[in-house]
Amino acid sequence: MTNIVIIGAGECGARAAFALREKGFDGEVTLIGAEPHLPYERPPLSKDGLAGAEAPKYVASAERYKEAEIAVLTDALVEKIDRMCKAVRLADGRSIDYDRLLLATGARPRAFPGASGNSGRIRVLRTHADALAIRPTLVPGRKIAIIGGGFIGLELAATTRKLGAEVTLVEGLPRLLTRGVPEEIAAVVAERHRLEGVEIVCGAKIATLEDGGHEARVLFADGGSVSADLVIVGIGAVPNTELAEAAGLAIDNGIAVDERLCTSDPDIFAAGDCCSFPLSHYGGRRVRLEAWRSAQEQGTLAAANLIGGAEPVSSVPWFWSDQYNLTLQIAGLADGAVATVRRDMEAGAFILFHLDGEGRLIAASGVGPGNAVARDIRLAEMLIAAGSRPDPQVLASPDTKLRKLLAA
Ligand SMILES: Cc1cc2nc3c(=O)[nH]c(=O)nc-3n(C[C@H](O)[C@H](O)[C@H](O)COP(=O)(O)OP(=O)(O)OC[C@H]3O[C@@H](n4cnc5c(N)ncnc54)[C@H](O)[C@@H]3O)c2cc1C
Repeated sequence: MTNIVIIGAGECGARAAFALREKGFDGEVTLIGAEPHLPYERPPLSKDGLAGAEAPKYVASAERYKEAEIAVLTDALVEKIDRMCKAVRLADGRSIDYDRLLLATGARPRAFPGASGNSGRIRVLRTHADALAIRPTLVPGRKIAIIGGGFIGLELAATTRKLGAEVTLVEGLPRLLTRGVPEEIAAVVAERHRLEGVEIVCGAKIATLEDGGHEARVLFADGGSVSADLVIVGIGAVPNTELAEAAGLAIDNGIAVDERLCTSDPDIFAAGDCCSFPLSHYGGRRVRLEAWRSAQEQGTLAAANLIGGAEPVSSVPWFWSDQYNLTLQIAGLADGAVATVRRDMEAGAFILFHLDGEGRLIAASGVGPGNAVARDIRLAEMLIAAGSRPDPQVLASPDTKLRKLLAA
């Protein structure tokens, strides 16, 4: 094998490219991305990156790609995968052959159905370009309506308040953070946002969003409305599967891959936000993760398997979010939990441990200032990976050192 092509120059694609070199692959590596930049980090876009820097935070400098002999094509949209010829076709007419292909095409923001108008007052946040377009309006005296009380919407709300604009956050469900975050933690987050002056409207039925040119409006089904200088929609992301689908690859809530991240074509792999895979810790249940560390881990794993390895995905999902001085961290998947144990820590921080019907620790969710929960969530992650069944009372006690449980 002499030639590996990666479509998608994001976190996952970049990590995979470097990992190929770290694992000794000495053939050609071509990383193709539709955006005009070298791969950059998305998490800062809703946090400090939105408030600050003009340039994105790059995953690696141009020199590092050069040193590693990774050819990076930016502003290069792949339009077609030709599996018969083993080549990818670019929108500018170029064609690039591959022996093995990695799809790391990521995800894009879900559009609000039926939003009207196009003067730029209704926006989403996924790319550096989106952040640049949003930022000038996040200033004192401006009103921002955020649609969606998930992580992106809430981080945006926190950053917007920090920059001095007013925020109304509209969520369709009865509470914030319904996806994967326990109610107790969502309540802490909601309270903090209210204290910071965010107006939160939950259980809202939005009829439509209107971009009227001089202002934008959120129109509710009950006849009410919210006017804003800018509406930012953060209602989830959809995986970029179109290329794979057109090439006849199996799709199942993302590009369907096996536990080695291989698609239904043995020469094509997929990794990161774009793919779904069976997760061994959870009975082989198929999941698609949208998380920074998973994108990195899957990029590394895909690299190993592209060059002949047979490593299965085995890590425990992990996610973090920063809002004001609060950090949330979640390890594992809590949906199969039948019992939850709370462990209170210093400075109002706490962790909820989630156990399944057999007493197995399957997830841990924590919230607190700064790094308050980081170490214990890390240890919980290790306990989850070890399949541990800790005594719930022992877990709840702040005097128990989780490291001791791990050693046991
Ligand atoms: C604002 C924001 C904040 C976030 N904050 C956090 C956080 O706090 N914690 C956390 O764990 N995760 C966070 N995430 C999620 C994390 O950033 C993603 O999980 C990660 O970026 C996924 O990496 P990826 O490489 O799979 O996909 P992406 O980063 O989406 O990269 C995919 C790339 O592929 C390109 N592409 C797609 N199709 C084509 C094509 N046909 N041709 C060429 N190129 C193509 C896209 O343009 C894109 O550049 C955040 C995401 C966003 C958007």
